[in-house]
Amino acid sequence: MTRTALVLGAGIMGLCAAWGLRREGFAVTVVEQDTVPNPRGSSVDDHRLIRHAYGAQRGYMRMVDEAYEAWDALWRDLGEVLHVPTGVLALDEGGGDWLRDSRAALRVAGHAMQDLSAAAVEARFPLLRGAGITDALHMETGGVLLAGRIVAALAEHLRGNGVAFRRARVREVDEALVLEDGTRLSADMLVVAAGPWASRLLPTLRGRVTPSAQVIVRLRPGDERWSRMPMLLDLSPAGGFYLVPPVAGTPLKVGDHSFSLLGDPDDPDRTPDGREVERILSLAARRVRGIEDWAREGEAICFYDVEPREEFILEKMNRRAFVMSGFSGHGFKFGPVLGLRLAATLAGREEATALSRWAAGRESVAA
Ligand SMILES: Cc1cc2nc3c(=O)[nH]c(=O)nc-3n(C[C@H](O)[C@H](O)[C@H](O)COP(=O)(O)OP(=O)(O)OC[C@H]3O[C@@H](n4cnc5c(N)ncnc54)[C@H](O)[C@@H]3O)c2cc1C
Repeated sequence: MTRTALVLGAGIMGLCAAWGLRREGFAVTVVEQDTVPNPRGSSVDDHRLIRHAYGAQRGYMRMVDEAYEAWDALWRDLGEVLHVPTGVLALDEGGGDWLRDSRAALRVAGHAMQDLSAAAVEARFPLLRGAGITDALHMETGGVLLAGRIVAALAEHLRGNGVAFRRARVREVDEALVLEDGTRLSADMLVVAAGPWASRLLPTLRGRVTPSAQVIVRLRPGDERWSRMPMLLDLSPAGGFYLVPPVAGTPLKVGDHSFSLLGDPDDPDRTPDGREVERILSLAARRVRGIEDWAREGEAICFYDVEPREEFILEKMNRRAFVMSGFSGHGFKFGPVLGLRLAATLAGREEATALSRWAAGRESVAA
């Protein structure tokens, strides 16, 4: 008999869980409070980054190889590749461990990389200022996932492969999904992937996962060489930023690395505070030549669901339900591999405790 699954949430995590479950032969329904794709969710934006450099979090560095394999499987199902290789340039000004830890871990794992001096950064990437750089690392691997297009294409693929979508808000989860109007939806297995709404929905996540409003700034650089630049990870102790180059017709994007740990994803006003926008631009202006003169293409607030150690939560809630949460600012790249592994567990082919440890970045488990 066909086993049934309900997936709460149509962000990258819920859709990838639905994808994995469908591949395992489940009959799947996705329950989503908003439109699909949902522009208020964490997943719908022009881009998300994938890279091996992961500081001291070696479990996640190792998981990136599995993530690439899962993306390849997804591209085959979608019939298109929605990833643009850019490479990674990480810059430090001293005082932090992230770049040093990344280099040590990457070296042990045998990843190719190049160490650069400040002068070499300026010579090779003349669009940047080298002043103050004490350490730099360049990798050819890594790139941009075209997030909004991926979510739209995956939802379309699932619809075409028999996955049902139901628009409704869930107010409670036990061994069923309880809708706002009291309707109880039941299935053999439930997956709760509620993004930044999760800690409101699931009392067990309160205090463990915090919604965090993050400001991003979209710009159109004057120089077309920017479309061939690597993603930039600036780790200045004075306030680091990340920059996504304008690939595949998208704008360039800048954001910062700190968590606000504030905000309500249900707040309809997603207009960022102008001072926050200026603060992020001033972080980037120290490093990026001419950014002050670029055309602005808009600012936005997008939510992380922050777990304090930035470890993912893929855990069994009861005999039927699993939760996917705590993706902080780095979950998107792992959506497909998490969806496949979770589905294998729900199908009884993997063990739940091992899945939770692996998802938390603690170890690798055999595929
Ligand atoms: C600015 C920003 C930059 C990022 N950069 C990167 C990056 O470079 N690389 C990377 O790997 N990751 C990155 N991330 C993180 C990544 O985008 C997230 O980890 C990921 O998108 C989370 O997906 P999700 O499916 O859990 O959440 P969401 O996309 O938010 O999906 C959850 C869905 O559940 C629905 N839902 C919630 N509650 C209910 C309910 N009660 N009833 C019905 N439906 C409900 C919501 O409407 C929503 O559509 C970034 C995130 C942000 C915000």
